[in-house]
Amino acid sequence: MEEERKMSIKIALAGNPNCGKTTMFNDLTGSSQYVGNWPGVTVEKKEGKLRGHKDVIITDLPGIYSLSPYTLEEVVSRDYLLKEKPDAVINLVDGTNLERNLYLTTQILELGIPVVLAVNMIDLVAKNGDKINTQKLGQMLGCEVVEASALKGKGSMQAAEKAIALAKAGAAAQPKHEFSKQVEQALDAIADAAPGVENNQRWYAIKLFERDEKVLEQFEAEGRNLQPIERITSVLEEELDDDSESIITNERYEYIAKLMKSCVNKRSKGMTTSDKIDRIVTNRWLALPIFAAVMFVVYFISVSWIGTIVTDWTNDTFFGEWIQPAVGGWLEAIGAADWLNGLVVDGIIGGVGAVLGFVPQMFILFFFLSILEDCGYMARVAFIMDRIFRKFGLSGKSFIPMLISSGCGVPGIMATKTIENEKDRRMTVMTTTFIPCGAKLPVIALIGGAMFPSIFWMAPAMYFLGIVAVIISGIILKKTKMFAGDPAPFVMELPQYHFPAPKGVLIHMWERGKAFIIKAGTVIFVACGLIWFLSSFGFTSEGFGMVEETESMLAAIGRFIAPIFAPLGFGNWQAAVATVSGLVAKENVVGTFGVLLGLGGDVTESDPGLLAQISAMFPYGAAALSFLVFNLLCAPCFAAIGAIRREMASAKWTWFAIGYQTVLAYAAALMINQIGGLLTGGLSFGIGTVVAILVLALLIFLLFRPGTRNRSSSLRRAGASA
Ligand code: GDP
Ligand code: MG
Repeated sequence: MEEERKMSIKIALAGNPNCGKTTMFNDLTGSSQYVGNWPGVTVEKKEGKLRGHKDVIITDLPGIYSLSPYTLEEVVSRDYLLKEKPDAVINLVDGTNLERNLYLTTQILELGIPVVLAVNMIDLVAKNGDKINTQKLGQMLGCEVVEASALKGKGSMQAAEKAIALAKAGAAAQPKHEFSKQVEQALDAIADAAPGVENNQRWYAIKLFERDEKVLEQFEAEGRNLQPIERITSVLEEELDDDSESIITNERYEYIAKLMKSCVNKRSKGMTTSDKIDRIVTNRWLALPIFAAVMFVVYFISVSWIGTIVTDWTNDTFFGEWIQPAVGGWLEAIGAADWLNGLVVDGIIGGVGAVLGFVPQMFILFFFLSILEDCGYMARVAFIMDRIFRKFGLSGKSFIPMLISSGCGVPGIMATKTIENEKDRRMTVMTTTFIPCGAKLPVIALIGGAMFPSIFWMAPAMYFLGIVAVIISGIILKKTKMFAGDPAPFVMELPQYHFPAPKGVLIHMWERGKAFIIKAGTVIFVACGLIWFLSSFGFTSEGFGMVEETESMLAAIGRFIAPIFAPLGFGNWQAAVATVSGLVAKENVVGTFGVLLGLGGDVTESDPGLLAQISAMFPYGAAALSFLVFNLLCAPCFAAIGAIRREMASAKWTWFAIGYQTVLAYAAALMINQIGGLLTGGLSFGIGTVVAILVLALLIFLLFRPGTRNRSSSLRRAGASA
């Protein structure tokens, strides 16, 4: 019968950012969600089935510090807890940061739903030599408690089982906390004045007392009379000489202090290892050099050193010597048509192979980035960058999307959701793709390898160029009326350092990297086929048919757009086509060269190889650097543009963003080619040099002019006196 069908049980994971919710979610559901070591990665909730329990659904909620409705994360989590009413909540707290974490716990307990408190990171607590009397903590709070180490797979199941039992019994938490007598009286009075909210009575009373916007709105919409409630609140505020929200907050912290005193025995009087490391790593003077050194080593190893060895092998030996001749020979042997042989060997293997050749490099980079993130270092970087970003009006929160963008710009752009300030959010969306993503890596490696084989710091330099582009944009844009304003404060819990779990690092690396393999088999595959077709066919006096590359449709298209890039030093049709094809996906820049120039690394008379042909394409170094910089900074790929469109939610802003990026890229490439070419002797002085110098002067002016605020006020003064 219908009623006998088992209803599923919903269990939500709630807690502060970085307390291990996603780790526990993965442990409970057996899935491999992104575990980020910084706040704000989980803005949307995620659902999964509990392992071995088909009828139990686990929800991973965004991390929050309280149930107030100020940030997007708070709204998402709170709406879920209140409106969708999970059957039970597992409230995770970071045992090494208990005091801060319990603030949310006191609020969750008031919701009138079953709660299991999971004291997580218990491994670190033990390592620090601290003791938490969890049993007593549970008694004093009025809920079930388990000790857990989600990372080590301990306690998660136990917490889930307790939650299921509570959910089945419908046993809501019975918070033991009482506010001061006066406050309790006021809450009782408010509860009497606002009846009919069932088991959430206490929560609503507290929220009404705090004048919680959302609850007031809701009650107004229901046509309730709020005046008696306001009266009760303001009378007590007068009496205690404080606003109601602060009264509640202070009393919560007093209560938590009491809990800490009775239940926690801090052994570690001195600094923990984490604190000691942080003294150096986040030191005012050392932080930035250390960050620069770390990223230098990471990019150097993954792109320039080990990466090159692996990539050379994949490109030259694997694809160039094995796959391409083998497939070509086989196609010939079975008597395939010339065009088919061309499409497969030059188009698909040449193009897709050139891109795939760089995939090992991406994986090595992602491997290192995952380690840095999982051990807790990247969270420090956001904190370090906050100090710098703040100087020109952005907060460290903007750096988190940028860190994510070093994998792929799309999730990077999506991560801007957590930035509350609309202007800062827009600016971050506009600038985050300046950080080179995985797809730009092949471009850097290819141009670097072909043109600057002896410059070992090329790849790290391109990463820092991205950061510089962000900072320059920040300074310029913040001075305009569109973006002026002070950055919001940036609060962030620094997780303790720990050795990253190998499984976690590998999952993380794979999560980031697999999209690039899929892309190579889909978007890049199709694009290379198309490029091959356009580059092999054309119109001659005899009509449409296969032609020499230089006579092809692609060459015609390329020659048509090439003049745009001529001042930048790469006005040949191949480079122009490669740049435009990069809009579909940045790997296409490499894919296009692969199709047009062919693979093969052994430089022989008859087959000069890809790298040699590329270096022949750029007459001097500055032109190649200009090509590289333009492709790194200009409008990102379509997928990222789509993400910009979604996050901006406005066509106008989207156009502004990609317009700005492209103009900045053009200006940078122009200066590099014209001024750099002149200085290194590739170019002689001419009209281009003059234009480049003017652009440089304009850039310096935009960087150092006074901000818009002073300006508009002086204008107003002038207007007033007139
Ligand atoms: P969330 O923000 O609450 O989803 O937290 P995550 O699940 O992303 O975890 C944040 C960081 O803490 C990650 O680097 C995890 O590997 C780490 N972590 C999670 N649980 C534990 C634990 O029990 N012990 C230790 N040592 N680290 C943990
Ligand atoms: Mg998470």
